[in-house]
Amino acid sequence: MRYAMVATPDGRERPAVVEATSVRVFDPSLADLRAICAMTAEQRSAALSDRRYAFDEVGFLAPLRPPKNVFCVGRNYLAHAEESTRARGIHLELPDRPTFFSKAPTAIIGPDEEMHLSADVSQSYDWEAELGVVIGRRCRDVREEDALGVVFGYCCVNDVSARDIQQAHMQWFKGKSLDGTCPLGPVIVDTDEVGDPQRLAITLRVNGVVKQQSSTESMIFSVARIIAELSRGMTLEPGDVIATGTPDGVGFARNPPEYLVDGDVVEVDIERVGLLRNRVVLR
Ligand code: MG
Repeated sequence: MRYAMVATPDGRERPAVVEATSVRVFDPSLADLRAICAMTAEQRSAALSDRRYAFDEVGFLAPLRPPKNVFCVGRNYLAHAEESTRARGIHLELPDRPTFFSKAPTAIIGPDEEMHLSADVSQSYDWEAELGVVIGRRCRDVREEDALGVVFGYCCVNDVSARDIQQAHMQWFKGKSLDGTCPLGPVIVDTDEVGDPQRLAITLRVNGVVKQQSSTESMIFSVARIIAELSRGMTLEPGDVIATGTPDGVGFARNPPEYLVDGDVVEVDIERVGLLRNRVVLR
C-alpha cells in the first residue's frame, strides 16, 4: 500500500491511501499519517473512509511531519565516502559504526513543492538522493535481526545540503536544516510493497541529467544495522524518519563542483518507492 497526505477540495489536509486512479481518505478524526503508522493492518483498514477523490482533485503534500528531527546517516555508500574525502583533501577512514546527524523537521517540503532557497545564506546548495525509512513501532534496543519488523515503510528524501555552511560551522546540522532543504515523499510505501530495502535502484537527476545512480545494496551499513545502532539506548517512535545516506555523484565532489541554481528541477527516483520532484527557486 502507498500512503499520502492530500489537500482535499474542502480545504482540509487528510491522510489517504493511494489507489490506481484515486486516493481514499482516512476517517476525519485522523489528522496525519503518524497515528496511522502505528496501527495494525486491521486497525488501518477499519479507519479508512469510503470517500475517494480523483488525483486531479487533490494536492499531494509532504506525507509526514516526524515527531522530531529527521535522523540522517552520513557517508553510508563507499563511493560517496571516497569522493567526499578526495574533494576535501582528507584521508578516508571508514568508521565501524554509522555516523548520525539530523535535519530540522521545518526543512521538510512535499512532492512538487518549490524549494525556496536564499542566495544570501548559501552559495553552494547540493543534492543528496536518499532512501527514507519510516518507523512504525515505538521501540528501543532493537536487535539487527528484528529491525526490519519496526519499519512501517519507505519514502524518497533529498538531503539538500549547504556545503559552505557545513564547513563554516564545523558540523552538519545547520547546513542540513535550512528551510526547504528536506524534500520528502511523494508517498510512503509500506514494507510489503517494497520488499528487501537493500535491492533498490536509486537515481538522482537535475534537469533530466543523471547525477547519482546506484543501488541500496551498496550501503555500508544496512537499514537493519542502522536501526539497531540508532535505537541502542534511544527510543524510536512511530513516524520517525531515518535518511540512510547518499551514493556518489553529489555536486561538491565534482570537478569543477556543481551546485543548484534557480530553476533547476531535481528528481530523486527510487525503485518501488517513488519519484520525488522539486523545482529550485534560488533568490
Ligand atoms: Mg545525506
